[in-house]
Amino acid sequence: MKKTVLTLIALCLLAACCITLASCKTDKMKTAVKNGDQYTIVASYDQSAHILSAVQTVRVTNRSENSFDSVKFHIYANQYRQEANSVVPNVYRAKAYPNGDSYGDISFDSVKVDGSPVPYTVEGVDCDILSVPIEGGLFPDSSATVEMTYQVQLANIRHRLGYNDNTVNLGNWYPVLCHIDNGNYTASPYYNIGDPFVTDVANYNVSLTLPDNYVVASTGELIEATKADGFVTYNYKAEAVRDFAAVLSSQFTKLSQTVGGTQVNYYYYADTEPEASLATACGMLEYLNKNVGTYPYSQYNVAETEFCYGGMEYPNLVMITSGSNSYKEAIAHETAHQWFYGIVGNNQIADAWMDEGLSEYLTYLYMDSTGATPLTRNILGCTQTYVGYVDVLSRYYENIDRSMRSIDSYKNDSEYVIFTYVKGSLMFNTVYETVGATKFWKSLKDYFDQAQFTVAKSSQLIGCFATACGEEAGNIFTRFIEGKEVIGTIKN
Ligand SMILES: [Zn+2]
Repeated sequence: MKKTVLTLIALCLLAACCITLASCKTDKMKTAVKNGDQYTIVASYDQSAHILSAVQTVRVTNRSENSFDSVKFHIYANQYRQEANSVVPNVYRAKAYPNGDSYGDISFDSVKVDGSPVPYTVEGVDCDILSVPIEGGLFPDSSATVEMTYQVQLANIRHRLGYNDNTVNLGNWYPVLCHIDNGNYTASPYYNIGDPFVTDVANYNVSLTLPDNYVVASTGELIEATKADGFVTYNYKAEAVRDFAAVLSSQFTKLSQTVGGTQVNYYYYADTEPEASLATACGMLEYLNKNVGTYPYSQYNVAETEFCYGGMEYPNLVMITSGSNSYKEAIAHETAHQWFYGIVGNNQIADAWMDEGLSEYLTYLYMDSTGATPLTRNILGCTQTYVGYVDVLSRYYENIDRSMRSIDSYKNDSEYVIFTYVKGSLMFNTVYETVGATKFWKSLKDYFDQAQFTVAKSSQLIGCFATACGEEAGNIFTRFIEGKEVIGTIKN
C-alpha cells in the first residue's frame, strides 16, 4: 500500500511474464504452480444492488506436517459490516465514505466438502474467518475440495473492496485460505492499519460476468470474453499469484506498452498525464527486471481508481488513487510491490517493513536513477520526519519504543507509517550506503532467487545481505529493527 508520507510528516509533527506463456516460466514458478492450491471462481456482478454472487471451488492440499480437523479461510468482506471494527482508521473515514456510512458483508448459501454439505462456522473477532470441517481430518499430503456458494454485498466506500462513483474495487473479496505457519493456521484478524494479510501463491481460474458497460483491469490473463444479453463473461487464468483482484469502470481508457515479456496496461479516467504514468510503470518494471529479477507474468495492469490511501498492490494489478498528488511515486511504489509482496511474499502483519519499507526505498532509488528526485533529498526528508517524530514523542513519554514491530503493536496509523515506510527506508539506505550499490543489488537478487513464491521470513532477507555483504549489513538491520540505531541526533 502507498501512504502519503509527506502529508503524514506534517500531520505527525503537528500532532506530536507470463502466466500462461510456458516459455517465460522459470523452474521455481513451475514448482509454485504445481504446489499451489487451485481456486475456481464463477462470479457475476449486479451493478444496481452492488452484489457479487459466486460459486467458488478450492482444491486444497495439506502441505504441512500436521493434520487438521478443518480448513480455514479469511473472509475479509465481513470486515465491512456495521458491527465490525471500522475497516479504516477514524481519521480516514471521511475520505473513505464521501457519501456517508455504508456497509457490506459476505453471506453463504452452502459450503460443501468433496460434494457433501458440511456444518461450516463463521469465527474470528469480526466474523472474518470461515471454518470448514473436514470429516475424518485433512492429513499431510491429502487433499479436499471445498465448494461454497456466497454473495458479497459491496459497501459504498473508497477502499480495497467497494463501489464508488467512478469504479468498483474488487480486492480481498473472496474467501482465501489462511496461511499455515509452523504447522498451524495463521487465522489473524483484520487490522485497519497497514495491509493485514499473509497469503500463499495459488492458481486461479476466474469467470466474471459483468454488465457490458464495464472495462476490467484484473489479475491474470484474459483467456476469453463472451458477450450475451448486455453482459460480458470474462474468463481469466492466473498462476502462482497471491490474490486475484480486479477494478471495474465504465470510464476507463487504456494505454499499453510492452516491457520484456510483459504487457503493461494503464487504465485511467482522470489522470491528466497518462503517458507519463504509463512510462513510470514501464520504467520501474524495467528497472526491477534488471536489478532484482525478471517479472514472470505476461500482464501488469495499473488502474486509476478511488481509494482512501495512495494505492494498493495486488498481483498483476495495482490500484492508484485518482487525484494523487504524485501518480509517478505511487505507481513506482506499487510496482515495486509486484516483486516484494507479490513474487516474494512476507508476513505483512509481523514484518511490514519487508515489503513496505523496501518498496518505498526502491522507489527512491528509481526516482534518483531517472533524475526525478535525488536520493539525498528523499533520505533527508525521511530523516527529518523520523527524528522530528521521535523528538515530539520524547517530550511526552519517557521511554519510547523505537523498534519496528507488528502492525497491531503501533498506537496509530501515523506511527505505523513512520516506522514502516520512513524508518524502513532509512534502514535500507544505511545498508546501501554502507555496502555500496553492487552488493546491495546482489543481496536483493539473492533474496529474490531464494524466496520467490514463498512467504519469506525477515531472517532470510537479513541473511542474504549478511552473506553477500558481511556481518555488519545484518547488524544494521538488527539495530534498526530493535530500535537501537543512531539516526541524526537520536542516540541511545
Ligand atoms: Zn506499499
